[in-house]
Amino acid sequence: MAILQMNHESYKKYIAESDKPVLVEFWAPWCTYCRRLAPALEQVAKEYEDTLLIGQVNIDDEPELEEEEQIEVVPTLLLYQNGQLLDSIVAPESKPQLEEFIKGSLSRRETRQEESGHIYDMIVVGGGPGGYTAALYAARAGLDTIVLEKLSVGGQMALTEQIDNYPGFEDGVDGFTLGEKMRRGAERFGVESRTTEVLSFDFSNQVKAVETSEGTLRGKTVVLATGASPRELGLAGERELVRKGVNYCAACDGMFYKGKTVVVVGGGNTAAADALILSRICEKVILVHRRDTLRATKIYHAPLMEAKNVEFRWDSAVTELLSDEKVNGVRLRNLKTGEESVVACDGVFVSVGRKPATELVKGKIELDPSGYVVADESTRTSVPGVFAVGDVRTKALRQVVTAVSDGAVAVHYAEEYLAGGM
Ligand SMILES: Cc1cc2nc3c(=O)[nH]c(=O)nc-3n(C[C@H](O)[C@H](O)[C@H](O)COP(=O)(O)OP(=O)(O)OC[C@H]3O[C@@H](n4cnc5c(N)ncnc54)[C@H](O)[C@@H]3O)c2cc1C
Repeated sequence: MAILQMNHESYKKYIAESDKPVLVEFWAPWCTYCRRLAPALEQVAKEYEDTLLIGQVNIDDEPELEEEEQIEVVPTLLLYQNGQLLDSIVAPESKPQLEEFIKGSLSRRETRQEESGHIYDMIVVGGGPGGYTAALYAARAGLDTIVLEKLSVGGQMALTEQIDNYPGFEDGVDGFTLGEKMRRGAERFGVESRTTEVLSFDFSNQVKAVETSEGTLRGKTVVLATGASPRELGLAGERELVRKGVNYCAACDGMFYKGKTVVVVGGGNTAAADALILSRICEKVILVHRRDTLRATKIYHAPLMEAKNVEFRWDSAVTELLSDEKVNGVRLRNLKTGEESVVACDGVFVSVGRKPATELVKGKIELDPSGYVVADESTRTSVPGVFAVGDVRTKALRQVVTAVSDGAVAVHYAEEYLAGGM
């Protein structure tokens, strides 16, 4: 059977009504990984035509569906059965890998129905670098470990094409590849990975309950590795211009703007720290802030004011991102006078804070005023047996290297907890 081309309506209909499992590839005509996968997908469609329905959604034609399904990387393949998402995979590299994914997901569903009595040693929530490092260390320590990830492995890291500050890769590495390597490395030691969204936690008993979109799992320890996402400005075209001039992390992406002009938006500690980093790399940094003074702590004020290449636009907000293919400027409005101006630049760094993914643990675990899980370098939280690693916890530097470090430390303390607790 040929691969079905799906739009929003037919996608929903097939998923809801098909009596066979449905595999859907979200792709784009400009995506090289998608082109490479095409022959394997066609072969699978032919060989499995009696047992599987295969479709494709072009994300350029269906942007709303892309957003609804939270597709962040193409190609992403989602596998559904009886209207429920079973599993997803991002950019499989070969036909055997695609077949292994399909068969594995379908057979895991069957075994899952029999596992309600199972108690894991460790349930890791979040498949980013923090989560998969915890899982790797746990599995190597002989702990029965599962990673629950609602989207695709790699977390935020998978959104960046070039990571140059994670040691061991002399030419850098793209975040998606690094995420896949971390997953495979952990699975080599027996870690189970499952694509499912965690919906709630019950930490009231020694054995913790984690409710997911596919049922409840039980674990002796839980590692929260759900990350934190940057706050956006909410401007038209902002998401489309990510990697084309819109950035959210100066430590990560500043080097791409060496010798260029950038705008930093914000006035708190993150914006001040980002502007300082960028002032050492870029020719010119223009800091745009809604007020007439920085909110950042005093230690940043003097070095920023003294930096010869930092310019300030006080009482101002960015109202429009200007671009051809990439960002080439911003439109500003002075909030006191209403006057508009255009500033030419090569990139914009949005430094207006981050939003930790801690909604599900509010009221169950101690959070700081910004919503981060309170945990020190030990990664222990206010609930014994629950650990927080990576961007989701209180810490000074949110990077891949600090997230992986947390993952290793969490297992050290989890083993201690298990030895003494249960
Ligand atoms: C564009 C960009 C570029 C970056 N570049 C660099 C760089 O060059 N170098 C660097 O060191 N750092 C970089 N970073 C930062 C780095 O990606 C993060 O610090 C790192 O990914 C944090 O890892 P983590 O494991 O704590 O969380 P994350 O990577 O955020 O992973 C959290 C995971 O948890 C999952 N999750 C959340 N809630 C649930 C739930 N309820 N159920 C199931 N799963 C859930 C999410 O889907 C996500 O996959 C960049 C970040 C961005 C956004």
